[in-house]
Order: sequence, then C-alpha cells, then structure tokens
Amino acid sequence: NKRIATIGDAMVVFNPSKTGPLRFVPSFERAVGGAELNFAIGVTRLDMEAKWISCIGDDEFGKLIYNFARGEGIDVSHVLRTPHIPTSIYFKEIREDGAGKSFYYRNPSPLLELTEDCIDESVLDDVDLLHISGVYLAVCKHNIQVALKLIALAQAKNIPISFDPNLRLKLWTIEDARAVYEKVYPSINLLLTGQDEFELLFEGRTVKDVQESYKIDEIIVKKGEQGATVYTTTEQHDREAFSIRAIDTVGAGDAFDAAYVYSYLNGYDIPERLRLANGAGALVAMIKGDNEGLPSLQELRQFIGDEKLIER
Ligand code: ATP
Repeated sequence: NKRIATIGDAMVVFNPSKTGPLRFVPSFERAVGGAELNFAIGVTRLDMEAKWISCIGDDEFGKLIYNFARGEGIDVSHVLRTPHIPTSIYFKEIREDGAGKSFYYRNPSPLLELTEDCIDESVLDDVDLLHISGVYLAVCKHNIQVALKLIALAQAKNIPISFDPNLRLKLWTIEDARAVYEKVYPSINLLLTGQDEFELLFEGRTVKDVQESYKIDEIIVKKGEQGATVYTTTEQHDREAFSIRAIDTVGAGDAFDAAYVYSYLNGYDIPERLRLANGAGALVAMIKGDNEGLPSLQELRQFIGDEKLIER
C-alpha cells in the first residue's frame, strides 16, 4: 500500500444542531476535524496508509482526537502531546445552502510545541507522498520552518509533494499567505486549489503562467458544484461535479485531495482521477460533518457507478 505523510492541527468541532447564525443555535454535536487530519482519514479510508505529524493538548479533547485518529487506522506515532496548551476547538455555522463558516479557538495552538527539532530525519523514509496544507502554515509562525524542513527532506528523497493552499484569512492576511506560499510553490508537484482561492492568491495571473513560473507538474482547480479542472504542462482536463444536494460542503476539498492523491499514486489517468476526486468531494458535501462522509474505496466506486450497490 502507498503511504502518505501530512502535518497539521486537529480540532474538536462543534456542529450546529440547526442552520443559521450561531447565536441562535442552542446545541451542538461534537466531532473531530482539521484539514490535514481529514486528508489523512480520507486516504486511509481509501486503503492507503497515513502518517499524521501533529501536537495536541494532553487533555480530554486531545485524548478524543488521538483515539479517533487511531481508530481510523492513522499512524499516530508522530503525534506529540503537550500539557501546556489546550487542544484547539471550533464551532461551525451552516447556511441553508450547505455553505459553512467556522469560528476557531486555536490561538495558541498546541502546534507551538512542535518545533523543527521534533522532526526526525527519518520521518519520511517509508513515505510515497508528502501533503502540506496552508492551514498548517498559517497556524503558528514557526510552522513554515518546520514545513520547509519536511519539504527539503521529501525533495532529498524524491518524494512528490502535494499542496493545498486552504487559505484561511481569519488566521493571516492575504499578503502574508502569498509571501509564505511563494516559498512552497517551487517544490511542489501537485497544487490542489479552490477556484476563488486561486484568484485571490494569484490576482488575475493565468494557470499556465503560474504553472510555468514555479514548474508545478499539475494544477488542480476545484470548482465546487462545477466540478474540477486539471492543468498539466501540456493538457487541460475538465470534469463536471456529480449532481447532489449539498448539506455541508466543509471538508469536500480535503476529500477531493485525498481521492486525487490516491489515484495519482496508484497510476490512474487524469480523467479517472477527476472522477474519483469529484465523487469523494460530493460524498462529503452530502453529509453533515467534515470527515464523516469520507468514503471507503468500495463506497466511492459504488457512488461513481463502477460497482453495484447491494443493500439486501
Ligand atoms: P473547502 O476547502 O472548503 O473544503 P475547496 O474550495 O477546496 O473547499 P470545493 O470546490 O468546495 O473545494 O469542493 C471540492 C470538490 O467537492 C469539488 O471540486 C466537487 O467535486 C465536490 N463538491 C463540492 N461541492 C459540491 C456540490 N455542491 N455538488 C457536487 N460536488 C461538490
């Protein structure tokens, strides 16, 4: 089985019991989330192995996250626990159309205790791909150094790198994000970005121009209910989304990333990768929660019509 590594914060998520502004929501359901952990769960459910590098609070919520990640079969041997900083949490607001808004309580984040020195030179030895998300880069200032160390290790070992900017303007300014991402782009093989995010980050530059200036093998643009487009250095592939009723689109992008990376590492062609990734994104958007809808390989194959669903 292929193996990926990723680094980032995980949080306890409070999902609202009803849609609308948070101040009118009287109760919440507790779950677990965080872009990088969602990605790790996504690839694990698709029968790959995921090493999740992180630091969580040594508290009740930290134990919940740790047990949850272990339960999903994620390699948690590189998850540190700190008694000094509480595990991060966030509350979600959901609009009638399924679009979400997030309110974070993660400053300081336990990641403050995960420094460059905590990264062992051998951490990527058995890994086939490194996935970095912009959320991680935004959460603490020193994270960029830690990420650059991991990126350098990956490059030294010829391990491909995927990057999702996951722009969170509640955590930093667009200027700061752009300056930090500039250091990452030249090293990556896959850029997995949302369409509006691409426009914000690159201010009117074309995909081709961005691709050429940073020598990125593939730029994958996620377009919500419009599906997605992949640009290689020579080709462009578009694929429509599956027609569904979206309930909660948070996490659809992480699901897409997981299925794209899965099919990339397993040698599928681009149209097939897009089909699987759109399918995974749609399945997560159809269910309340950030990772509850992440499909197993069989569920994904059934949803996209490759396998028959037998329910009785
Ligand atoms: P986020 O970071 O908020 O998860 P994103 O911008 O990275 O989002 P989206 O484009 O919102 O990602 O969604 C990723 C993929 O999920 C889309 O490319 C599409 O395949 C699928 N998807 C999302 N929303 C819908 C929808 N309403 N209908 C069908 N498919 C959807």
